[in-house]
Amino acid sequence: MSINISELISTPFKEETFEVPIDMEAYESMGDKFPFRKKENLVLTVSNIGTRKIHLKGHWQGELGIPCDRCLEEVAVPLAVEIDEDIDLSSEDSDEDADNSYIEESNIDTDALINHEILIRFPMKTLCRKNCKGICLKCGKNLNLGECGCDRTSLDPRMAAIQDIFKNFKEV
Ligand SMILES: [Zn+2]
Ligand SMILES: [Zn+2]
Repeated sequence: MSINISELISTPFKEETFEVPIDMEAYESMGDKFPFRKKENLVLTVSNIGTRKIHLKGHWQGELGIPCDRCLEEVAVPLAVEIDEDIDLSSEDSDEDADNSYIEESNIDTDALINHEILIRFPMKTLCRKNCKGICLKCGKNLNLGECGCDRTSLDPRMAAIQDIFKNFKEV
């Protein structure tokens, strides 16, 4: 969705609240796609606070499906976004660091805004449970569901090196 703010920008002290749905079905980052399991409407209040200056205040909640770092099972991760910022639209091209890439001309791209907010809040680590056992690197079984019976001792190359040393000892 796109919110047109041209009237807001040209009318001093004008304030308006918008409630808009988020259209994207997944959050995409560096080639990875994380589907939304839940997404609420974005409620965003835009205020004119000076010449080409606006204030954004809003909130949004959703849930993202992110694979567990160890077993790859999808985990529902809740996200709560609070937006509270001043934006100077006149500095758009002079300030390279300006974080308002989601505003183009007189339109706020609400999907791009939420995308930007999720990027900042994206969890560094996602586990389905604190003590997730992960998957067997040999057969791929989810070890939270039980042991698979594979011999995994030889999978770690460092372990294999140590075992070779012991073997050589025996042979001497
Ligand atoms: Zn897991
Ligand atoms: Zn296995």
